Amino acid sequence: MEEEPAKHCLECGDEIAYGKRSDSKFCCEHCRQRWHNRNRNGMYRLKERYDRILEKNYQILLGLFESQVRSIERSRIMAMGFRPEFATTAVHSRSSMLMTCYDITYRMSEQKIFFIEKRGTRSEPRQEKNAAWDF
Ligand SMILES: [Zn+2]
Repeated sequence: MEEEPAKHCLECGDEIAYGKRSDSKFCCEHCRQRWHNRNRNGMYRLKERYDRILEKNYQILLGLFESQVRSIERSRIMAMGFRPEFATTAVHSRSSMLMTCYDITYRMSEQKIFFIEKRGTRSEPRQEKNAAWDF
């Protein structure tokens, strides 16, 4: 069997001492904790940021839906602060994307967002087949 290449600490880059467990990623406990703290905080900030963007998108869609707006130019909704690349599910269909933002469904094409509907109100949108990321 070939000798494993030397492993290096993910935090400080020092070589991990011979004799450490082979799955060890850190040279010491201090480095392990520093790395985990930094990455946990980074993940938390990212999640918070995405949650805020989704919440804003949701409020914009809900406002449109409640004002009976079912279709809007992408440039107009983006001017309201909507971020079209954020959604809770996105499924490709032939000419548009079938999107959801929590319980609001809509279609999105290059030009517009349309068929804005809210689940449980009016016509229940048919169940998407590939909504793998639905929560
Ligand atoms: Zn280290």
